[in-house]
Amino acid sequence: MHYKFCPECGTKLVPRIAGDDGEVPFCTKCEKLWFDSFSDCVLVLVYNELDEVVLSSQWYLPEGYASFTTGFMKPGETAEEAAAREVKEELGLTLQSVEYAGTYWFDYNSQLMHGFIGYADKAPFLLSSEIPSAQWVPAAEVPSGMLPDFPGNAAMTVFRQYIAHRGLPLPPIPEMTPEQRQQLLKK
Ligand SMILES: [Zn+2]
Repeated sequence: MHYKFCPECGTKLVPRIAGDDGEVPFCTKCEKLWFDSFSDCVLVLVYNELDEVVLSSQWYLPEGYASFTTGFMKPGETAEEAAAREVKEELGLTLQSVEYAGTYWFDYNSQLMHGFIGYADKAPFLLSSEIPSAQWVPAAEVPSGMLPDFPGNAAMTVFRQYIAHRGLPLPPIPEMTPEQRQQLLKK
């Protein structure tokens, strides 16, 4: 988010040179610089001892597609804590390990996604009301339940890392055609 007005007092901000960062919106009343802000989110691939992966339906995905667990980070928690919390809240599973799988910029919503690969023993889900359905899916069948791949696709990048991490054969990954992309991602 690029600030035009001070979020604290509502004064119209003016440009002010802030060292190497160049011009940054400045509140003359609060004497505060307001750097552009964005949301930090987590995306967690959860797998079990059978190398099955959780795919859950998500409100932001077109019907018929599923993905991994995602959520916004809260102030005061680490990305790892957010990953474990979201998995507990959405699926009712307790992660026994969580490994960092890189960051991904999601331009559409100005979000920085922190990717994780988490392990949980196979157990039934206790789904939150936000999640209509979730399933344990064999690794080889995961890509066919997800959106076809596209450049900058964080979920599929994390999936590829999981496959490499576990030494599994990489299943075929369908790619999104430009027509599909227009249909699926335009809202
Ligand atoms: Zn102000």
